[in-house]
Amino acid sequence: MTGMLSKESLSHAILLAGPSGSGKKSWGKALAQAVLCLNRSYGEACMGCVSCRQFSSGNHPEYFLIEPDGRKIKIEQVRSLHTSFHLRGVNKVCLISHAEAMTAEASSSLLKILEEPPEGLYFILLAEQPRLLFDTILSRCQRYKLQPLSRDQIQDLLVKKKNLGADKAAFLARLSSGLPGHAFNLADDEDFNKRFEEAKTLVFNLVSGHDSTYHLLSQANSLAEREDLLSFLDLLCIFYRDCLVKLLCRNEELLISHVRPTIREIVDPAAVMEEVIRLINSTIYELNATNVNRRLLLEKMLILMQRRFTQCPG
Ligand SMILES: [Zn+2]
Repeated sequence: MTGMLSKESLSHAILLAGPSGSGKKSWGKALAQAVLCLNRSYGEACMGCVSCRQFSSGNHPEYFLIEPDGRKIKIEQVRSLHTSFHLRGVNKVCLISHAEAMTAEASSSLLKILEEPPEGLYFILLAEQPRLLFDTILSRCQRYKLQPLSRDQIQDLLVKKKNLGADKAAFLARLSSGLPGHAFNLADDEDFNKRFEEAKTLVFNLVSGHDSTYHLLSQANSLAEREDLLSFLDLLCIFYRDCLVKLLCRNEELLISHVRPTIREIVDPAAVMEEVIRLINSTIYELNATNVNRRLLLEKMLILMQRRFTQCPG
C-alpha cells in the first residue's frame, strides 16, 4: 500500500482483485483511510487525525461505500454519488464492493465519472472476477491482484488479530487456503471447536472400525442434516490427509495420536488413506454438483470408508 500512495499522483480508480476471503475489503478500507488521512506518513494512515478517527468510527463524511443491493449494484446507487461529489478541496473516496455486480447502466454511469474525475475523488473497486467489468472501466484502473498468503503469515495474523494460541492458529491457517478472510471467519466461528471435536471422533471411530452398520446409518442421517456439512467433510479430509502425509514421511507423530496403533494393523495404510481421501472428495464434489440424496450418499461414503479401514492383513 505504501507503494500505491507514495506516488505523486494516485490513480483515480484502483482495482483490487482476488478470491473471496483474500482480504480485498480490509485492504480497500485501509487504502481509503490512508487517502483520506490528513497526516499520512509513508503511505499509511496516521490513525490519530480527525479524519482517521471519523473513519474508524464508521462516520466519515467523505467516504462512500457501495455494495450490491440484492444481487446487483444498480444505477441509482452510482447516481446518488454524483450529488455528493461537488465539495471541492477535500479528498473523497468511494469503495465499490463486488464491483462486477454493477449492471450495465451502473457501469456506464461510473464510466462517465471516471472519464472526467473531479479533483480529489478516488474510486476503489473490489472484484472477485474483474473480467466481468467493462473493458473501458478496467483500462482506467490501476490494478492489483491479491495473492494468497503463506501459512506462516496467516498464523501470525491469527495470533496477533484474534489472540489465538499458536496451535489453534496453525491449524486454522492450514484450513484457510491462504485466505485471511476465510481464516478470520473460522476464528470467529463459535461452532468450530465443536465441529472439530465431532470430526475427530468420527475419524477415530471409522479407523478403528468400532461402529456397527446400524450406528453408521444413523451417523449418515445426522450428517445429512448438518448445515455445515461441507465444512465438516473438509475437516475429515484434512485429518486423513495429515495421517497420510505423516505416514509417507515416516513420521510417527499423528494429528490424532490414538489413531496410530490402529493404522499399523492395516496392510497398506497409505493406500487406504489415499482412497478414503478420494472418497470424501468425490462426496464433496457430488454434493456440490448434483441434486443428490444427501443421506444415501453419506451412507455409502461411511460404509465404504469403514470397510477400507477394517480390512485386516492376511
Ligand atoms: Zn490520519
